[in-house]
Amino acid sequence: MKEEILLAGNVLACRASRFLNKPLSYPLNVSLSVTDRCNSRCKTCNVWKRKAYETELSTWEWEQILMNIGHPYWISISGGEPMMRPDIADILLLVEKIVHPKKLSIATNGLLPETTLHVIERLLASRAGQTIVNLSIDEVDEKYTSVRGIDGFEKVKKTLYLLKGIQSKKLIVGVNIVLSRHNEERLPYIYERVMELDPDSVICEVAQEKKAIYAPACSPKRESVIAAVTKLLGSDSQKKKARLIRSLRDRYYRLVLNQLDGKKIDCFAGIASCIISPHGKVLNCSVRADCMGDLREDGYDFRKTWKSALASDSRDKARGCYCSDAGSNYVNILCNCRP
Ligand code: SF4
Repeated sequence: MKEEILLAGNVLACRASRFLNKPLSYPLNVSLSVTDRCNSRCKTCNVWKRKAYETELSTWEWEQILMNIGHPYWISISGGEPMMRPDIADILLLVEKIVHPKKLSIATNGLLPETTLHVIERLLASRAGQTIVNLSIDEVDEKYTSVRGIDGFEKVKKTLYLLKGIQSKKLIVGVNIVLSRHNEERLPYIYERVMELDPDSVICEVAQEKKAIYAPACSPKRESVIAAVTKLLGSDSQKKKARLIRSLRDRYYRLVLNQLDGKKIDCFAGIASCIISPHGKVLNCSVRADCMGDLREDGYDFRKTWKSALASDSRDKARGCYCSDAGSNYVNILCNCRP
């Protein structure tokens, strides 16, 4: 119950911020994009082409930032491939020690099975809240390579089995499928194959151009989206321990269908959620990637960046905007929820 009260308080503060058009609170979801490095070569993402790795935030810099972002309900870890950072376990432990979020989700391509197992085991030894590891599987068997650019399906499967072997009630091992023009015809088959792997949760996100990761426009056809979402809505793909995620997932699918009919909800990106880039820039979301400020220039003082004129400007720019980004829309669903 305490967790629900905390979340409700976060949501109310974000709604008040939106109403008054100024940030009264910290965001309820902060996504830490810890690196641009990636060992995949996906057709739906070009972040690995950006090679400014030497200037990415150090462990010490992440620690300064974490000490200044308050206590968001939900922290998401993304990249690039987070497991490519040699200090990823240290960063995750700092997140737990300083922020101790109720939900901590980690997006990974699953290509480093042993490293991932070691990192997650270290994290869980001190973690109090729920941890969600989402493995990206956009295709299966030999077709995996055609979308992800390298031969890695067996490695991802191994990562999933290793993580499921941990058998912790506080760990959800999920699968994230990006529905794009590269796999739209095969989605029903891909979904069935993924379900055979017995993940705790499955989310199918609709691809779109994302500036933060240089993702090209590769959206699926309208009829493919309708067919996929209609099939997945209400499907029993989430275990009991993933109750909140299941609810958000089904609402996300409805939101996607509503958007196709021209119905939108208010976006809270830049108010209730944001991304911190590997170089310390604060972005409102991965799709628009409007810069809200630079934490290095602001002495890692997140509050200063969050309240800056540039941040306010980015909020104004995003008014009336809508997209199919699952992460931002999970937060939008929470913030638009009527009691
Ligand atoms: S709707 Fe929100 S999350 Fe999506 S692109 Fe616009 S500002 Fe970003």
